[in-house]
Amino acid sequence: MAVVPGDGWQHVGMSTTIAPSPPDTTNVDVVVVGAGFAGLYMLHRLRALGLSATVLESADDVGGTWYWNRYPGARCDIATVDYTFSFDAALEDEWTWSEKYATQPEILAYLQFFADRYDLRQDIQFSTRVDAATWDGDADLWRITTDVGTTITCRHYVMATGCLSVPKSPDIEGADRFKGAVYFTSRWPHEGVDFTGQRVGVIGTGSSGIQSIPLIAEQASELTVFQRTPNFSVPAHNGAMAEGRRAPLDDDRGAYREAARWSRGGVPRPPAAEASWQLSADEQRARFDEAWEEGELFSILSVWNDLMTNREANEILAEFIREKIRDLVDDPETAATLCPTDHPFGTKRPCLDTNYYATFNLPQVRLVDLREHPIASITETGIDTMTESLAFDAIVYATGFDAMTGALVSVDITGRDGVTLAEKWAEGPLTYLGLMTTGFPNLFMITGPGSPSVLSNMAVSIEQHVDWVADCLAQLRAADFTTIEPTETAEKGWMQHVNDCADITLYPAANSWYMGANVPGKPRVFLPYVGGVDAYRGICDEVAVREMLGFALSGPDSTQRNDGVVVRLQPDVRLVLGMMEEMDLPLIESLPVDGARAFVGQMNATRPPGPDVGEVVDGTLPGPAGDLRYRLYRPAGDGPHPLVAYFHGGGWVLGGADSDDPLCRDLCVRSDAVIVSVDYRHAPEHRFPAAADDGFAAVQWIADHAVELGGIPGQLAVAGWSAGGNVAAVVCQLARDAGGPEISGQLLLTPVTDCNLDTASYRENADGYVLTKPLMEWFWGHYADAAERTDPKASPLRADDLTDLPPAFVVTCEFDPLRDEGRAYADALAAAGVPVRQLHGRGHTHTSVTMVDVILSGAPVREEMADALRHFFAARVPA
Ligand SMILES: Cc1cc2nc3c(=O)[nH]c(=O)nc-3n(C[C@H](O)[C@H](O)[C@H](O)COP(=O)(O)OP(=O)(O)OC[C@H]3O[C@@H](n4cnc5c(N)ncnc54)[C@H](O)[C@@H]3O)c2cc1C
Repeated sequence: MAVVPGDGWQHVGMSTTIAPSPPDTTNVDVVVVGAGFAGLYMLHRLRALGLSATVLESADDVGGTWYWNRYPGARCDIATVDYTFSFDAALEDEWTWSEKYATQPEILAYLQFFADRYDLRQDIQFSTRVDAATWDGDADLWRITTDVGTTITCRHYVMATGCLSVPKSPDIEGADRFKGAVYFTSRWPHEGVDFTGQRVGVIGTGSSGIQSIPLIAEQASELTVFQRTPNFSVPAHNGAMAEGRRAPLDDDRGAYREAARWSRGGVPRPPAAEASWQLSADEQRARFDEAWEEGELFSILSVWNDLMTNREANEILAEFIREKIRDLVDDPETAATLCPTDHPFGTKRPCLDTNYYATFNLPQVRLVDLREHPIASITETGIDTMTESLAFDAIVYATGFDAMTGALVSVDITGRDGVTLAEKWAEGPLTYLGLMTTGFPNLFMITGPGSPSVLSNMAVSIEQHVDWVADCLAQLRAADFTTIEPTETAEKGWMQHVNDCADITLYPAANSWYMGANVPGKPRVFLPYVGGVDAYRGICDEVAVREMLGFALSGPDSTQRNDGVVVRLQPDVRLVLGMMEEMDLPLIESLPVDGARAFVGQMNATRPPGPDVGEVVDGTLPGPAGDLRYRLYRPAGDGPHPLVAYFHGGGWVLGGADSDDPLCRDLCVRSDAVIVSVDYRHAPEHRFPAAADDGFAAVQWIADHAVELGGIPGQLAVAGWSAGGNVAAVVCQLARDAGGPEISGQLLLTPVTDCNLDTASYRENADGYVLTKPLMEWFWGHYADAAERTDPKASPLRADDLTDLPPAFVVTCEFDPLRDEGRAYADALAAAGVPVRQLHGRGHTHTSVTMVDVILSGAPVREEMADALRHFFAARVPA
């Protein structure tokens, strides 16, 4: 059949549903691959849109994961009331789950029921594997070829092929030699297996191993478990769903489902409000005990809010679990082998089990630690480790999957310009939103890499993806667009965001299948999106609302290219800004000065304290108009240490010697320098040039008293944030002009360097990033008259001479009105021959780098700042 662009599109209003055209299974609007949760729901939505669709499925029935994984003990690990479709209340009325965690047969039965209820089977071709798919750019359609020799053309092509559907082949020497029975948990015989009286070896202790081992042990005469990496497992406490747990669902199902859609993991559960350090040891223990009893992944993953970002916080929980393992397992050596120590809790998917650890107390069960006794080879009769030969009647491989990308790249997908998906993803997958990839028009992935997928309740994530794709297709059709493809900028921006999210967590610390680490040769990149189901859904919605931001669309009559990056802020900065918006805080510039100071004081009181330092000393030093308070932060090790005179932020109006306490502590620890945070007189009581004069006097005093302060004479740098950066920069100029004191370097964090409020960065970031243009106008108004502002003591950028100043490290932030003046100052210093390093804080705001233990993405910036200080001082160490 000749196919021309535009064929198969029903040009109807978006809300109109029309009957599908007579089946033509060689040319359809949409081909969907896979008949699991995702493919089935996708087909249902496509039908409702009036699009013709064919699902191709290699199995001979629906079910996907739940068709293939029939091993003993196979169950879901998300409570089944949550791991279920939620788009149709009538469907929910017709199905009741029998247990907290349903078994594989029950979930398979549910998906079979689903297929029948919506009459889906007639559009599914079973026992049909898709081998290849090629984009035909002339006809704007995909040609799909299958292992049964058919070719199907379609305008849009949806890979609903699953994240965990391609079993990892055993990469063990001699695996094909074994003459006994061989089973894979992921391809279990439909008729089941009776291990009674058999000697069985199970290789692998991931989720499938942990679920199946207790049941295999009940039958086998001998069971040997081969463990390479111990995993954390929590008891499932399966049975009937607890009444209390069901109550919110029963009370208001609609609200419950909506809460799931906007939760972090796809299960409605408020995130922990407290960090581990805010809880006493008893409180930590109580929270753990409660979560252990509850037996749900998301309860144990939300005991405290820094679990997945802070190693110490994670270790507290990890050790609680190890204690449980030692209690549950009689033999101390076996218990020790079962205790995970090589990865933080949660960085590999934690398991839920029924009697897993206790199984190792049975006399017929034995654990072999493959790290101590690696497998040498599989033989005809069993398994040889480096130390012994073991004979088996059956070997069970519970060795996991080529996760997230395996099913996608195992089809030979060729996109625009003849590039295959496998080639494009050779260094790791690149997607926009985990939904599409540049160069492969009209190809959608359900729960693809770069989406929350395996980190979430996948039923919720699958529904969200399918709905987004279906809505997108409806919109394209309404606007008469026939192709859609993400732009390179959008894809690059998304991958940056995915990595930014992962980088502030502990996830990359584990050699997990999330990282592709379980498959030899697979690139090590963090595959899922860790930013949360809620954030992700909001971003996908935003893309659609902003007229398909990041997509190029084309049709017979028009094209649209809405290039751009949907998330440019660092993920934690975005989160904090969102929370601040919800708090509806007052605008500082709307408050009287006293009120503004009190408000900032209250906000500061709720901050994490920052790291411990060796000593904190409060004191005073003489200023030109009276004593000035200072707070000194001394590193823990033996002194003397280099000295840093630090000037706080606050627009010359707010703050004091201790108002940047967490930042000063952090700098002290990271740089191993004594930080002396000096107060200076504030406006409007003391206007220009009081702050600058005080700053200079303080630096002179610190230089003169270096030894008393525990410092190294001659090793004194200045540092400051915002208006404090202004003071630090001005002090350097004053010291140069006065012939001393000698300053080793100047560390300027988002400094005020000029009074011009009409720069590009002021225009771009006038509002919404905490430091606003109106607030800067308020600060300047209190500090200096218009005529005074151009004085280099207020606007150091305006100094006639910038030569012979100390080396500088200047940090500017992308979403800061002061960005351009900071850069201009750094450039001007460099032009004057001053050694300068600049750091542009991508995705950061004026305040975010200072938010120690809140904005984790600021830590690398602060590390660079500390590094700069060390360099200033290293340059001063006599040879
Ligand atoms: C043992 C196990 C337990 C799990 N428990 C949970 C849980 O409790 N909670 C949770 O959220 N998630 C769980 N998961 C993840 C689970 O995979 C998803 O929840 C969900 O079932 C995925 O549905 P899907 O339709 O996207 O993919 P799948 O169910 O994997 O279906 C994909 C289908 O595509 C077919 N296919 C793939 N490639 C091709 C091809 N080239 N040609 C034709 N057909 C193809 C496959 O045969 C398969 O049937 C579990 C996974 C496993 C393995």
